[in-house]
Amino acid sequence: MPELISHGDDGGIALCVRCGAVAVGPCARCHSPVCGDCCVLTEGGARTWAVCLACEDRGGRALGGAWRGLVLWLLGILAVLLVLVVALGLLVR
Ligand SMILES: [Zn+2]
Ligand SMILES: [Zn+2]
Repeated sequence: MPELISHGDDGGIALCVRCGAVAVGPCARCHSPVCGDCCVLTEGGARTWAVCLACEDRGGRALGGAWRGLVLWLLGILAVLLVLVVALGLLVR
């Protein structure tokens, strides 16, 4: 098997697929190891996801967008409930 020459299999340190730096974690979509400079963080939901720039270009923001829409929807419902509770409180007094 002459192809197995130094295939970066030492120590198990994952390298960034884009620039070759030490990766900080896998991409949430394609699971390729990426470094901090080659990924963007999507916020929303219970945790933050790291998505590589390639996946972000391919519409990775849709993940965050969906979460953001859901959060805004829940916040809207909470706001309506809050207004109802305050109105009822004023009426009861
Ligand atoms: Zn990188
Ligand atoms: Zn990716």
